[in-house]
Amino acid sequence: MDCPHCQSQQVVKNGRESLSDGTVLQRYRCKGCSKCFNDRTGTPMARLRTPSSVVATALNGRSEGLGVRATGRLFGASHSTILRWEERLARQADAWSPPAPSGREVTLEGDEVYTRVGENLPPASSEGWTIHFIERQSRYWVSVMAGHKDELLFQRGTQQAWQWAKGCSFIRWFTDGEPRYAKALWDLASVYLALRECPSRYRTRKVWRHGLEVAMKIKGSQGLRRVVWVRPEHPYTAISPLAEVHANHNEAHNAALRRRCSAYRRRQNLYAKTRDGLQRTLDVQRILHNWVRPHGGLGKPTTPAMAIGLCNRLLSTQELLCLRGFQSISC
Ligand SMILES: [Zn+2]
Repeated sequence: MDCPHCQSQQVVKNGRESLSDGTVLQRYRCKGCSKCFNDRTGTPMARLRTPSSVVATALNGRSEGLGVRATGRLFGASHSTILRWEERLARQADAWSPPAPSGREVTLEGDEVYTRVGENLPPASSEGWTIHFIERQSRYWVSVMAGHKDELLFQRGTQQAWQWAKGCSFIRWFTDGEPRYAKALWDLASVYLALRECPSRYRTRKVWRHGLEVAMKIKGSQGLRRVVWVRPEHPYTAISPLAEVHANHNEAHNAALRRRCSAYRRRQNLYAKTRDGLQRTLDVQRILHNWVRPHGGLGKPTTPAMAIGLCNRLLSTQELLCLRGFQSISC
C-alpha cells in the first residue's frame, strides 16, 4: 500500500475502523508525510458512508439507461446524491485511462454523435456534439469529448486519442469524411523528412509519422462510398491494401450508447442539461464499458480492457469504486 498523498512506501498500520454495513477498513499512517489514510482514500468511495454495493448498483442502473431521478427513486436517494456518486467515479476517468500497451497494432475509428443539451437549439449552435474514438479489435473506448462542434472539440478529442495510441508501433486511423479530424492529427503526428529520404513522388517533405496511416470514408451523393487516404504516409510505412476503412464498429457503438446512456435517448425528458453533465455521464459510461462490461463480440466474457491487454480479468463496478485506478488492480 503506497501513500496516496506522497506515494511513499513507508507506511505503517494504524488501527481499523468499521462502517455501518459491516465493512472493516484498515487505517494506515505514512512515515513520509505523517498523514493518515485508509484502504478507500483516493478511491471513489472515500469517506462515503453508503455501502459500495448500493452505489455500484445505482451506477449500473444509470449505465443501462435509467435517468438520474428514476435511479434516485429506486434507491431512496435524491437525484443530486446519484449525481454526486456519478461525479465521484467520473473524476477517476484519468486513473482508468492508461495509454495503449506499447508495440501493439491498433485501428482507431472516430465518429461524432449528437444529442440535445439544455434548450432545444439547432445542432450548429448546440453543445451536444460528442466525438468518440474506439479501437476496432478490442472495442476499447479510447476517448470521448463533448461540446460545440468546432475546431477545439476536434483538437481535444484527437489529442486524447493520440495520447492513448502514440506508443503503438502501427496505427490505422479511420474516420468519416470530416476533414477536421485529419487536420487536428496532422498537427500532432506529422514529421519532416530529411531531403535525401524524400522519394520523388512526394511533393512535400512533411509526412505522417512512421507507422501511421490515415484514411477517411466519404459518403457520395448517390450513396457511393469512396475512401480518401489523407496526406502522404511515411515512406517506410507499409500501407496494407486489406485495411478496411470504415467506422462501422463505432456506429454500432453509438447505437448502444443511445440505448444505455439516458442523455442520448430521444423523445424524452432525459437529455443532459449541461455540457459538463453530459461529459460526466460519458466518462462513467466509458469506464464501465472498458473495464466492467464484457463485450459480446469478443468471445468468452472479455472486457475491452482485457482484449487490449491492460488487464487479465473481469472487474465489477463495486470493485472499481474501491480502487485507485487501473494501477491498483491485482491481477
Ligand atoms: Zn505520505
